[in-house]
Amino acid sequence: MLRLYETQSREVVDIVGNDGLLRMYCCGPTVYRDAHVGNLRTFLLSDLISRVAQASGLRVQLVQNITDVGHMATDFEDKILAQSKVEAIDPFEIAKKYEARFHKDLQRLNILPADLYPRASESIELMISAIEKLIANGFAYVGVDGNVYFDAQSFPTYGAISGNRLDSLKPGHRFDASEDGAKRFHADWALWKIAGDRSQMVWETPWGVGYPGWHIECSAMSLAYVGQSVDLHVGGIDLRFPHHENERAQSNALTGHETVTHWIHGEHLLFEGRKMSKSAGNVVLLQDVIDRKLDPLATRFTFLENRYRSQMDLSWASLTAAHITLKRWRRLVADGGTGIAVEKDREVEEAFFNDLDTPRALQRLRTIEKDAQITAQRKRALFLYADQVLGLDLDRAPEKVVLTGEQVTLLESRAEARAKKDFAESDRLRAQLEASGLVINDGPDGQSWS
Ligand SMILES: [Zn+2]
Repeated sequence: MLRLYETQSREVVDIVGNDGLLRMYCCGPTVYRDAHVGNLRTFLLSDLISRVAQASGLRVQLVQNITDVGHMATDFEDKILAQSKVEAIDPFEIAKKYEARFHKDLQRLNILPADLYPRASESIELMISAIEKLIANGFAYVGVDGNVYFDAQSFPTYGAISGNRLDSLKPGHRFDASEDGAKRFHADWALWKIAGDRSQMVWETPWGVGYPGWHIECSAMSLAYVGQSVDLHVGGIDLRFPHHENERAQSNALTGHETVTHWIHGEHLLFEGRKMSKSAGNVVLLQDVIDRKLDPLATRFTFLENRYRSQMDLSWASLTAAHITLKRWRRLVADGGTGIAVEKDREVEEAFFNDLDTPRALQRLRTIEKDAQITAQRKRALFLYADQVLGLDLDRAPEKVVLTGEQVTLLESRAEARAKKDFAESDRLRAQLEASGLVINDGPDGQSWS
């Protein structure tokens, strides 16, 4: 049985689903730019859960939303509208462009598609009826500025996921600064905003022309497309507060019961020791990995080397190492023949079920790889079993690369330089080889290339 760490109870819990079905909702991307590798790590989490849940015998229903309106930037501007100004393209075209790129990235990472990707802009009717119901039942009100707000104090268990209780929340949350005078309480948040002078991405409602708040989007879409009960709600740790806290309040107020059984969060990713950000200039996209002639699945491999709920540090060195291991493992699988049979390995299965302990599963494969007692054929079957969850395309035929005459000469010269311990020369030759498109790795048995 699959067990996962649940944020609200801070415990590892059994994931049982309902009548053999596991209903999942995963917060999707805001499609105003390319997802960076940190975002992709979060999207991999729902894929891993789906694959392991299916291995445990559950059927999985996964819905992941596309936020194409209503996610505000710090400057009071909708992220999509802001990008539409930068690129001088219609905001819906911006959303379409980055949504397509999001799907392409998922495909490159072998992330299996969700059953449904509802768009916020196409679910406005759902949000309007949800807001109407919240107002009717005393959970929401129209502020003096015309915006509709959720009344945080009407929901006594606010803060259960994150531990941020209402009495400890300070007034003046930066995004809501301008709304402070209009709200009854500083922790209330906007469900619907009045358009003002905004003319794009706005809709008619009983409260005037306007656009939705980001948090109500996920409540409306998860209740409509997953159902009144959601077994697992998955997202990045940065969404725990306020997004998921607000979502929980809205959804529970709408259904009258605890809507989500388990909240599961994926941890942050650093790149070479620092948080990835535009201002730090260290944002890495999957395309950057491909441009360096590394297999995009090397990215997936490095993610799997870390457990989803520990912060991890990605680097070009770890991606290169993963790229080389992948090639070696595909060779190992190819050496085991062409059979399609898989053989279950208990240790690998236990690692997957035990809160997605993928690092341990990979460690186990390394042990199998080195074990001279296991035949090549059996190694293949064991690796292919693990690959059903790992998703590393280990049965892909190893590529045959023909070296150019110049590359052969450079490799020979470099081997000589290394034998003479002339490391300056060796480094110079490495740079030349890498410029020609090879990846060079130095191990105990000398240099190898891919
Ligand atoms: Zn969400």
